[in-house]
Amino acid sequence: MNASTATTENPVYGPLQYLKGVGPWRAEVLSKLGLHTIRDLLYHLPRDYQDRSRVKTISEVAFNETTTIKGQVKGVRIIPTRGRRGAILEVLVADDTGTIAATWFNMPYLRDRFKVGDEVLLYGKIHMHRYLQIINPEFEFPGKGDAPDPLSSNRIVPIYPLTEGVKQNYLRRLIRKALDDYTDYLDEIMPEPLIKSRHLIPLHQAMEDAHFPENFDVLKPARRRFAYEEIFLFQAALAVRRQKIRSEKGYAFRIGASVDSHIRSRFPFKLTNAQERVLEEIRTDMQGASPMNRLLQGDVGSGKTVVALYALLVAVANGFQAAFMAPTEILAEQHNRTVGKYLSGSKVRTMLLVGGKPSKERKESLKKIKDGEVDLVIGTHALVSKDVQFKNLGMVVVDEQHKFGVLQRAHLKHKGVRPDVLVMTATPIPRSLSLTLFGDLDISIIDELPPGRTPVKTVWITKRMHHEAYRLIQEELKKGRQVFVVYPLVEESEKLDLKSAVEGAETFRENFPESKVGLLHGRLRQELKDAVMDDFRQRKIDILVSTIVIEVGIDIPNATVMVIEHAERFGLAQLHQLRGRIGRGSDQSYCLLFADPKTSDARSRLQTIVNSSDGFRIAEEDLRLRGPGEFFGTRQHGLPDYKVADLTKDLMLLKTARDDAFKMIEQDCTLREYPLLRENVLARYTSRIRLASVV
Ligand code: ADP
Ligand code: MG
Repeated sequence: MNASTATTENPVYGPLQYLKGVGPWRAEVLSKLGLHTIRDLLYHLPRDYQDRSRVKTISEVAFNETTTIKGQVKGVRIIPTRGRRGAILEVLVADDTGTIAATWFNMPYLRDRFKVGDEVLLYGKIHMHRYLQIINPEFEFPGKGDAPDPLSSNRIVPIYPLTEGVKQNYLRRLIRKALDDYTDYLDEIMPEPLIKSRHLIPLHQAMEDAHFPENFDVLKPARRRFAYEEIFLFQAALAVRRQKIRSEKGYAFRIGASVDSHIRSRFPFKLTNAQERVLEEIRTDMQGASPMNRLLQGDVGSGKTVVALYALLVAVANGFQAAFMAPTEILAEQHNRTVGKYLSGSKVRTMLLVGGKPSKERKESLKKIKDGEVDLVIGTHALVSKDVQFKNLGMVVVDEQHKFGVLQRAHLKHKGVRPDVLVMTATPIPRSLSLTLFGDLDISIIDELPPGRTPVKTVWITKRMHHEAYRLIQEELKKGRQVFVVYPLVEESEKLDLKSAVEGAETFRENFPESKVGLLHGRLRQELKDAVMDDFRQRKIDILVSTIVIEVGIDIPNATVMVIEHAERFGLAQLHQLRGRIGRGSDQSYCLLFADPKTSDARSRLQTIVNSSDGFRIAEEDLRLRGPGEFFGTRQHGLPDYKVADLTKDLMLLKTARDDAFKMIEQDCTLREYPLLRENVLARYTSRIRLASVV
């Protein structure tokens, strides 16, 4: 059977409109949930479940539990509230064991549904506020022709992701219908051997159990199966992509003893063990026939740049050009200075290429690059733009700092012939995320700081400690040290950012009248930003107040204090990043977290950052607290949107599914043996990771 006919003839791939209860309008609404075919609907798995299988008596309920109770309506009243936020509807419900108040906020219109004497089923969370309450419960009137919906009561009830115009009850009915009429048409996509070896339950049963579990015991294996399937499909796509890169012919660089010692002689220190280990991984890649495709992770200041420079110089020593790309111009300039220091007096011809505007000077630079008169070009990601042509680009280092330009990497392919690529990131990424987001790359980790660093002291400053904090800052300033002050970015409001930073700068001017205070914020033009940074670097500014537009990679060894205002508003990874700006010399540095957090989440974030300086530990904690989507602080993280698999919890499953997928692709890279599986991989991930040309 050929895969494409399998889908065209199989009714489960038919449009949702074929299903009873779905007209054109509903189909349109459902398409907003990404549901187009009946199969899509079946794969629309619950995001949660509610246990409505047992009705409790009012005396049995426990605080904070979510439960079902049944009783008689004894009274209905509206409690007006102050302010515009509407009124509270309170319905007193009693059974033989007690009374409870069902409370709805801002839904006074529900009032008419409740008549004294009616029997009602309530499902919601139990609270205790002066008296027993059940808050915003769902409700039904079993005695009143409002026959209990068997899919929504007396059982474990699925809770689906919704969109406007779609209700839980409707989806439950629709999915029930689809399960009854179409499950038989649903083909198993996972290979039989894996189902056996990984003890996955078969698709049909998993479908039934995931949507309408008889009990909580059957739920777990069903969800495990779907989680495995989701991860497997994505990892198979990554595996294909990696196979493709591996099968390409790249340059096999030669790294003899003399090249090695020449390059090393440029570094005024002994490399750390971690640097040596990573260097060996990189050397092996570079000497191999297929292009390197490696991610280098390491905390800020762990010494990634040196390692990257080694790789760049190997390419140059082999007669190739090399490119070093930074996420911003400021960082490109900084890299240029750093590289210039290491290479002073060397024959390597370097060039800084920033600013995209066509000019005579730029034209000349581009010509030099094209003619091979430059060995090492340092610039922003714009280096991959169309007008930059290399003569023979052999090695590219992409410094992404905390940005993850997955697509940028794709563009690189079209530059040199097939350069080796090393991507650097200063944000420690939890393993589950890096195996997903960067799963097609090899990963190297520098997990050790160079010797001689004094760990940064991190102090959480509450309101009443402001005074002491200011005194400490004053002392550091007296020693000639510099201070960063960072304000959080107020989302979607540059104006507010500006205001807080401007006011902050004012406060610091008042408190430290003898120091020069500079201000950096998102609204400044790039040239001005650069000028302020330059002033800070040259110590013309003592205290730099900024919104977090300050470039995270910026290196100012003389700065020994990092003040973070409203630290409770920052994510853990960000706090850690900011703290990494200081503590670069051997003197004691201080990270002062000004914060009066309101939530326990914020408090535990602060506690974590005070207690730990291990970037990977902090990252794991960040992931646990905020979830994968928020981890990167941006929506464009490029993670697949798993419905069942949970990257914060399913690390073991992730590793297993990944190993299985990679093994399978290694043996059969076009998945010839499993056309349906192949079709699913393609259907979901082709556009995202461009593997159409391979499979
Ligand atoms: P990263 O790029 O990971 O932030 P860098 O490569 O910029 O780190 O290194 C941070 C600082 O540590 C630099 O000043 C660098 O000169 C220094 N450094 C790097 N490696 C070593 C080492 N092995 N021993 C001593 N100092 C080092
Ligand atoms: Mg660096």
